[in-house]
Amino acid sequence: MRPDDPSLKKMEPPRLTFGDRIYLPQIAAGLFVTAQHIGGVLFKNQAITVQYPEEQHVPSPNYRGVHRLNKDDQGRPKCVACMLCATACPAHCIDIVGTTAPESWPDREKYPASFVIDELRCIYCGMCEEACPVDAIELTGLYDLTGLTREQMIFDKTKLLSVFDATRDAEPMRYTAPPAPSAATEMLPSPIV
Ligand code: SF4
Ligand code: SF4
Repeated sequence: MRPDDPSLKKMEPPRLTFGDRIYLPQIAAGLFVTAQHIGGVLFKNQAITVQYPEEQHVPSPNYRGVHRLNKDDQGRPKCVACMLCATACPAHCIDIVGTTAPESWPDREKYPASFVIDELRCIYCGMCEEACPVDAIELTGLYDLTGLTREQMIFDKTKLLSVFDATRDAEPMRYTAPPAPSAATEMLPSPIV
């Protein structure tokens, strides 16, 4: 586009008033907000900070924190290794290796031999939870996620199942209906690795 193109719309910078140029009204407005917060803390008990870790923050019920792999009432992972969560994940941080379920598990064809989530690549969007047809993966309210190495932040199946054990009482499964065998297996993409 040429600079003299008639369709070009020229934008003029806004004209600053005297008050804008000396910044005093803005400084006064900022101090007023600060004073409001100080007054709220001192006189209305409106403190919004918590003395962590002595005091624990309680996140909202729809907070998306560390993942867990849910277990069914027989203690087995609910996951049927359908790969839908890994497919839906925009960060490509879920890695699953599915294998044939034992014959004693007639309600599914597959289960995850390996299930790994890189918690550092995850953007905690919740798409995996949305995609799961059997409600096997959920994001919990755990937020104090720490590790000394990157490897420690790569959660394998054992760790993800242990998060379920640690959170099941405080955060019951959102959906407790057992997976419908036909529904779960019908959704399996083919071929399954
Ligand atoms: S929360 Fe989002 S980014 Fe994290 S594993 Fe699930 S789908 Fe992937
Ligand atoms: S979508 Fe659910 S059942 Fe399928 S692989 Fe992921 S956790 Fe397992």
